[in-house]
Formats: sequence, structure tokens, C-alpha cells
Amino acid sequence: KLLVKREGDFHYPIYFEKDFSGLAQAVREEGLSGHKICVVTDSHVEPLYLKSVMDSLQEVSSQIFSFVFEAGEKNKNLDTVQELYRSLIEHEMDRKGLLVALGGGVVGDLTGFGAATYLRGIDFIQVPTTLLSQVDSSVGGKTGVDFQQYKNMVGAFHQPRLVYMNLSALNTLPKKEFACGMGEILKTGLICDGEFFRFICANQKTIQELDYTLLSQMIRRCCEIKSGVIERDPKEQGERALLNLGHTVGHAVEKLKNFQLLHGQCVGIGLIAAAYLSMQRGLLTQEEYNEIRKGCEAFHLPLTVDSLNAEEILAATKKDKKMEAGHIKFILMDGIGKSFIDKTVTDMELLGAIREILS
Ligand code: NAD
Ligand code: ZN
Repeated sequence: KLLVKREGDFHYPIYFEKDFSGLAQAVREEGLSGHKICVVTDSHVEPLYLKSVMDSLQEVSSQIFSFVFEAGEKNKNLDTVQELYRSLIEHEMDRKGLLVALGGGVVGDLTGFGAATYLRGIDFIQVPTTLLSQVDSSVGGKTGVDFQQYKNMVGAFHQPRLVYMNLSALNTLPKKEFACGMGEILKTGLICDGEFFRFICANQKTIQELDYTLLSQMIRRCCEIKSGVIERDPKEQGERALLNLGHTVGHAVEKLKNFQLLHGQCVGIGLIAAAYLSMQRGLLTQEEYNEIRKGCEAFHLPLTVDSLNAEEILAATKKDKKMEAGHIKFILMDGIGKSFIDKTVTDMELLGAIREILS
């Protein structure tokens, strides 16, 4: 297991496992046994994994119930949170209660927010079942829901007591969702570990065959990098912004496409825009740029986006909340595995990069 800093001297463990059988022991080791447990999951994950998770948790608690909501980003909102509160009250969940987030990032973000706010905060653990949630959303303590048309508009920082990953759960994950996770993984390598990026690209076939050893190496390294960045900058005052590599243009595309493209797919497109911009500045060579494109392609991420024009993407990019004193905080690369925050990107440069991702 990997230990991640929580606050002060507190750390929480991340487990990388092949099934759910060790979950009870993990809960016990954190001193969380005997508490009332609510397992939160969505309608896709429920038939696949809810029973085996509940069965394992029986060992540590005699009072377990579940809360299931309809899968999909459109339900990551305050209405679902209210239903969750209602269910917790109905089951007389008190401050010692424990929420278990079983599912992808939607379940994790919503459950974490429920845990952060119910009775001013109760414990929760993450049991992420998508590649994206294993390498990204379950690490870092950001929780929240969408509000009206705004993504992640309402939320809180709330760290889980532990993260338990069953890598075999990826066997049932749709290919497109797997690709999305890869978008974030490639991003993580590009930020600060070129060797890791190249390792993933070199092993693309085995990774996509879901070879357990490679998967666990990859996911573990990714969590290590992300948690390291966050440990050094928990509230995003500096370095943590690097994790937004590919997200400035990515978010704009995601929004303009009305979420028809998945987040990780938009991140892939955003990575290419950031790489192109970096190449235009002479920070990346043509070969390095091509290498990044090839990496995205190998993992079935789209390289371009259709039916949008450059000006509207530029406008949407500038509306992104990561603006500071009129300047976009853009993450650029100065090598594979080296990145930095830049506030001098001009509209002209951005337009050039955006044209590169239009089909
Ligand atoms: P998701 O939770 O919607 O999961 C994707 C789909 O896969 C869903 O239909 C889900 O039901 C299904 N699914 C989950 N596990 C499965 C499995 N093992 N087998 C088959 N189907 C399965 O989406 P996601 O990509 O996991 O997460 C996206 C969300 O995460 C977004 O809301 C995003 O804002 C959030 N996010 C949060 C953070 C953070 O730091 N908190 C970081 C990145 C993303
Ligand atoms: Zn992302």
C-alpha cells in the first residue's frame, strides 16, 4: 500500500488489490470497524460490485445499508446529495458513521461532499472502480457537485480515511472510459516524469490487455506523483496547478461539445494543444510533439475535435476559472516530463494551437 499525507502527521493508505476481499481488513486497520456504514454507488456499479463489497464489510459492521443513484454526471448535483442526506437521517447515521464511495468519479465526488457536509463532516473511504477515479479523482481530497450549468461549482476539501482499489474492476469498464483514465495518466507523466510517460507508451499493448502487474505499477506511480504534488501544495497555490496540463483547452472543448465528449478525451485533445503551443515556442522538438500525439493515439484518445471553430474555443478558454488578473494560467511543457505555469500566452499563440486540434 501507498501512504498519502492527510493533514498534520496523519496519513491515509491507498491499497492496490485484485478483489474486494481485503476491504474489511483495511477498514479495521484504520480503526473504523463497528461503525454504521452506508455504501454509496450508482446504478451501473450496483449490479456488478455492490454485493461483494457489502459482503466484505459485514465482517467489520453489523449495520450496513446502501444508497444507489442513477449513473451519470447529470446526477452529480445537490438533489442527489439531498436524497443521500435523507437516507442517512432515516437510518439514524450519527457522527461516527462511515460513507463508502463505490464507483467512478461521480460517486466519489458526490459521496465525499456528502461526507464533508453531513453533521459538519463524517468519515468516508474511496473504493474507485474506473481508471480515472483510481488515478485522479480519488486522490487529493477535492469533493463536490455540479450546480446549474456549472461543473464542480459547490464542494469542499475532504480527505478520505483510505482508498481501496480493486484493479480487477477495470475488466468491466467500457473501453472509452478506460481511454479517459489514460488521458489523465499520460498527462501526469508529461507533467513531471518523462520516464513514466515513455514506459506507458512502450507498454501500451499489455496495459490495454489489462495485465495486472503493469496496471498496478502504472496506477501506483500515477497516485504517487499526484499525491506528491498535492502534499506540497494542498490548496492549489502553486505547483498543484500543473495538474491542469491539457485542461485549459480541454475544459473549453468539453463545455462547447456539451459533454458529448468525455472529460478524459477532452484532456487528450488539450494535451495536444498544449504540446503544439510548447513546440511553437521552441520548448518541445517536433519529435517530442509527435511522441505525445502518438501516445494519445495509442490509447484511443481523439486527436481532433469537429464542428467547432477556433474563435469560440478561444473565447471559452478565456472564460475558464483559472484566470488570474486577466491572464490565462497556461501549463506548458519544456520537455517530455517537464512542465511549468505560464501567464504570457497570447491569443494568437492559443489560436494557432486550437487550429491544430480542429479536424
Ligand atoms: P463516472 O463516475 O461517471 O464513471 C463512468 C461510467 O462508468 C459510469 O457510467 C459508471 O457507472 C461506470 N462504471 C464505473 N465503474 C465501472 C466498472 N468497474 N465497470 C463498468 N462500469 C463502471 O466517471 P469517472 O470518469 O470515473 O469520473 C468523472 C467524474 O470525476 C467527473 O464528475 C469529474 O468532475 C470528477 N473528477 C473529480 C476529480 C477530483 O479531484 N475530485 C478529478 C477528476 C475528475
Ligand atoms: Zn481531469
